[in-house]
Amino acid sequence: MSQRERNPIWQYFDESITDTSKAVCKICNKSYSLGSHKPKKQTLLGLKLHLSKFHDKEYRQVLKQLSELNDFKNEAKLKRLKRIIATIELRSVASCSDNHSKFDL
Ligand SMILES: [Zn+2]
Repeated sequence: MSQRERNPIWQYFDESITDTSKAVCKICNKSYSLGSHKPKKQTLLGLKLHLSKFHDKEYRQVLKQLSELNDFKNEAKLKRLKRIIATIELRSVASCSDNHSKFDL
């Protein structure tokens, strides 16, 4: 799987056969520049702009899928964070109970 296929926007664009620096809109068949022939230097900005201007419904779909991808990533981050917090709390509870025993008298 190439890096390009991961972006949901590629559902609505095809790579140009004649020019690798361009992508062709599947809906209206217009070609748009990716800014470079090199995949690492390419940008999807022109494609996003095109979708947002001319194909609102499809653009919303892409945005929705992108935010779902982000939610998924955030959830994984949150789980990691909760594990770390749980470890810290365990340690601090242990040291706190030491202190309490002195004052409980
Ligand atoms: Zn189009």
